[in-house]
Amino acid sequence: MGILLRDVRLPEHGTASFWIRIRGNRIDAVSKEPLAPDSEDEVVDTGGKLAVSGFVNAHTHLPMVLLRGLADDVPLEEWLERHVWPIERKLSPEDVYWCTLLALAEAIRGGTVAVADMYFHTDRVAQAVEESGIRGVLSYGMIARSMSEGGEKELRTTEKVAATWRGAAEGRIDVAVSPHSAYTCGEDVWRAAKELAQDRGLRIHTHLSESRQEVATVRAQTGGSPPEYLERLGIFEVPTLAAHCVQVSESDLNLLARAGVVVAHCPKSNAKLGSGLAPVAAMRARGIRVALGTDGAASNNRLDMIEELRAAWLLARGPSEDPRALSARDAVAMATDEGRAGLGLPPARLRPGDVADVVLLRLDGVHTTPASEGLSTLAFASQSSDVTDVWVAGKSLMRKGRLLTIDEERVQSEVGRLLRRHMN
Ligand SMILES: [Zn+2]
Repeated sequence: MGILLRDVRLPEHGTASFWIRIRGNRIDAVSKEPLAPDSEDEVVDTGGKLAVSGFVNAHTHLPMVLLRGLADDVPLEEWLERHVWPIERKLSPEDVYWCTLLALAEAIRGGTVAVADMYFHTDRVAQAVEESGIRGVLSYGMIARSMSEGGEKELRTTEKVAATWRGAAEGRIDVAVSPHSAYTCGEDVWRAAKELAQDRGLRIHTHLSESRQEVATVRAQTGGSPPEYLERLGIFEVPTLAAHCVQVSESDLNLLARAGVVVAHCPKSNAKLGSGLAPVAAMRARGIRVALGTDGAASNNRLDMIEELRAAWLLARGPSEDPRALSARDAVAMATDEGRAGLGLPPARLRPGDVADVVLLRLDGVHTTPASEGLSTLAFASQSSDVTDVWVAGKSLMRKGRLLTIDEERVQSEVGRLLRRHMN
């Protein structure tokens, strides 16, 4: 059985009306001429909604929705050490499961079809991802000063996650190797992580040059900037997704371009924590692929990719005084194609043969009228609540504004319960 979307608009085709047929997990046909339904096809008359490739959140910590709004006004290091880590240490696997589902409900409602998540109790994160129907490149965030001081155990945990979850959920789940950062993992831990990633054919997903303090710490310990240090260890021989890259020099940028590192730009998190702004225009000018992430909800405080791409757009222009710094097309590409590259996902540009990771947005709101330029409307006028329908690999996760795979009321009440437990 297929799905036939009738009367949809496409971002780069003005007000023209199209038909899209989804068969199995792929786009089967896109046409201006009416497509004849098979007897088994479900026909969905969208009434002129915008069909887009779903968003990819290239860096997040889903369960951190629990900490949304906690200690909003402190610097990164103090925020982690005094506020975040003490609560996280007490989280049970069950807590992580419910918090992940809450985060995924928010993500799917905003048109997100894939996430790169780094956290712990990864089995329960993966279980929630599997149930929700979304795609995930999931990793266990390793923190260890050396192999003998916890590193062995961290690596074994990652190995187990990879053995259990790689390719699970009909291929929707992949696993990455995640040393948390250059300053929270020792040199031998990094080397072992690289070996494991190479051995299993996994990507590396890490935090890189997020704050001035991080850069100063790594420089003091190793004599190089975080990118220089990781390059010296040979880390970038493995496909690497690096979140943040805010405090980077010209030579760091050249190095990242040469190494083919994909940057997960997290503008709202960086701005909120006062860490600075990643030089996105300079990165793109050097050919660095820049994806987009929300980071965890504790530092955002949303998992809203439309809001994130709008923040990326505005923050690329204001400080640089350059009205051409990022176009609607660039911003949307960061939230879709570039994210797919960073996560190693197959393309989904709504062409025949592409995987069907499709999102519909309504265009009849006063804030999106007139919507003659679909790309501009999508990037700069629409909002996550305009998303009405979401398909991932051809499966419906949201239909006419109703989530089909997550019981939101149940999830909210479970998270409310565990919140009261942890905050008392
Ligand atoms: Zn992060």
